[in-house]
Amino acid sequence: MSETLPACPECASPHGYAMGELLVCPECGHEWSPTEQTGEAEEPDGARSAVKDAVGNILADGDTVSITRTMKVKGSPQGLKAGTKVRNIRLVPPVDGHDIDARIDGFGPMKLKSSVVKKI
Ligand SMILES: [Zn+2]
Repeated sequence: MSETLPACPECASPHGYAMGELLVCPECGHEWSPTEQTGEAEEPDGARSAVKDAVGNILADGDTVSITRTMKVKGSPQGLKAGTKVRNIRLVPPVDGHDIDARIDGFGPMKLKSSVVKKI
């Protein structure tokens, strides 16, 4: 085993092992996510709050956007069409890259990626 894993952030033990998405420390029992850690460390102060749309406009809570490309939606035969208007978006901490929470007519509440919307 030559795999190098980061030391435990709690007790600095080098014996941590991967368990699914998480790293687990056998010394102190601490569990942490390696991806989450690096993401935070690399993010400069304030950068996280600026969520931009497909063309670089900064998005804010309550904005109205349109979908820039047609997307498949689980349980919907026609999917979400490009050009669909989404009113009153809410910015949320990203989950798998989805950083917008919205309610879309005919679809209900949905999570969207800021990279597939354009501010109107
Ligand atoms: Zn530890």
